[in-house]
Amino acid sequence: MTDKKIQIKLKAVRQNAGLSLSQAAELTGVSKAMLHQIERGDSSPTIATLWKLAKGFHLPLTAFIEDLIQATDTFTPAKIDPIRFQESIEFHTIFPFDPVFGSETFLITLKPGQTHTSHSHDIGVVEDIFVTSGEMDVLQNGEWTRYRCGDGLRFSADQPHGYRNLTNEQVQFHNTLHYPRTTLFDPIDK
Ligand code: MN
Repeated sequence: MTDKKIQIKLKAVRQNAGLSLSQAAELTGVSKAMLHQIERGDSSPTIATLWKLAKGFHLPLTAFIEDLIQATDTFTPAKIDPIRFQESIEFHTIFPFDPVFGSETFLITLKPGQTHTSHSHDIGVVEDIFVTSGEMDVLQNGEWTRYRCGDGLRFSADQPHGYRNLTNEQVQFHNTLHYPRTTLFDPIDK
């Protein structure tokens, strides 16, 4: 399987925020050279880098990828290619960020044996997980807890957390991120 390069809207987002590459590097902790490569499309960001960008810019994840998806009210995963990160998770955007609700929702797939850990998101970010297929473990407060198809949980995601699949079956879950209004640039003003 050859992965398509993940193109994100970093340059537009950065310029919109009125930031130089150096300032953006300072804010996000991603090197200026790497930012430049991503902007030129020479390098695909990892999911960890993408989250660093979101956190540094105080933006939702879909602010960087919304052009890749159709912002409609209905979602059919079979019709849209997921975003695949090399050696990492793949996801579909179910609902891109909506400033009215302050949330965005993804469908995340974990292959058998796959573990994904995430650094802290921006202060006050809350995640919902709703398992739609299989059995998975979620890491919060340093402990892994098992959740099964149909289970849901809500947790503070401004601390390290993670998802893993210890089974032989694929796992899918809905993942909603809620952003407190105060931490975001207001997308309406852009
Ligand atoms: Mn997360």
